[in-house]
Amino acid sequence: MTKFAAMARPVGNPALAVFGTTIFAEMSALALEHDAINLGQGFPDTDGPAPVLRAAVEAIESGRNQYPPGPGVPELLDAIAAHQERFYGLRVDPRREVLVTAGATEAIAATILALCAPGDEVVTFEPYYDSYAATIALAGAVRRTSVLRFPDFAVDEASLRAAFTSRTRLVLLNTPHNPTGKVFTRAEIDLICSLAREFDAWVVTDEVYEHLVFDGLAHIPVATLPEMAERTLTISSGGKTFSTTGWKVGWVSGPADAITAVRAVKQFLTFVASGPFQPAIAVGLGLDDSVYAGLADSLQAKRDLLVAGLRDAGLTVSVPGGTYFVIADAAPLGATDALAFCRELPARAGVVGIPVSVFHDDADAARTLVRFAFCKKDEVLREAVQRLHRLRTT
Ligand code: PMP
Ligand code: GLN
Repeated sequence: MTKFAAMARPVGNPALAVFGTTIFAEMSALALEHDAINLGQGFPDTDGPAPVLRAAVEAIESGRNQYPPGPGVPELLDAIAAHQERFYGLRVDPRREVLVTAGATEAIAATILALCAPGDEVVTFEPYYDSYAATIALAGAVRRTSVLRFPDFAVDEASLRAAFTSRTRLVLLNTPHNPTGKVFTRAEIDLICSLAREFDAWVVTDEVYEHLVFDGLAHIPVATLPEMAERTLTISSGGKTFSTTGWKVGWVSGPADAITAVRAVKQFLTFVASGPFQPAIAVGLGLDDSVYAGLADSLQAKRDLLVAGLRDAGLTVSVPGGTYFVIADAAPLGATDALAFCRELPARAGVVGIPVSVFHDDADAARTLVRFAFCKKDEVLREAVQRLHRLRTT
């Protein structure tokens, strides 16, 4: 038998067949291949606060290199609870209502797998973060979406309401929102919450960009709204807040029985992760308010730089209220299909962006939209917009 004969056997789970390589991996590989400026995958090109970095080194040097406890190291559990109270007035029991995960990615997967049985429905918005669709499929659940439309990405009440049915098990919300940069308004969150109550659904809320909010806007955690704490699981991560996306320290907080169910799944995904980075993120969560404000201010200035540059290069832009990302319409640069445009862009212009259509079921809603990340050094952003500008004139 040749080694190829084995290929005749089916490979992979048919439910996941549509989920090939993630767009982030594909576009980062193209960035390397063409030595292009990577405004695709959302990661900063500078390090976060020095005390956080030092704390990780100290944790490694002091021998904290074996499996941490399943729920997370005690000082991180305490720091997460203290953070929720300090910023939002939310009280969570660090020993029963908080679970540390391998990034927010694992928190999302474990939560959906814990809450959903096959055939249950999950309501979410599109464009959606790519792991949502994949983990809903892993659970055998069904995705029901409401479209947020360029350029303001406002919630459409009728389509949101139509997405709820008697099978709705949970609503998966993300605010501030990737990829649009939208910060959901109080009225929009109220609407989502009232539908969740009406249909007796859980709300799973991905708040990884909670501290990356601009223009004096306020991040509103769902769990702070009336009667919501008992039906809400809140997910966040140290990756964005402390510019440590490679450390993969995330967490989920919510009612104790739900956290127990999520932990039961999590222990068979990674069991535990990121040992020495957990105490370091605990140090970060304890840093002064000025560190958080400094991060938001610096990103707001980068947003302004990129938005102005993209406009100057001829693109129509939706100005984001938060996150690392700005969405621009590349039609003025000749784009007719964002995916094809983004696959060519590294070779043509030396810049990488992410086609928004891959985050949609309704690809027509984003046919020519491209997401660019602005969590990069100013000179990198300037060079990227100059390159895009040249594209306009060639
Ligand atoms: N949710 C959203 C909306 C994200 O943008 C990301 C990644 N940037 C994640 C979850 C995953 O976070 P982590 O890297 O902590 O797994
Ligand atoms: N969340 C990051 C983004 O949206 C990418 C993370 C990943 O590569 N999975 O760019």
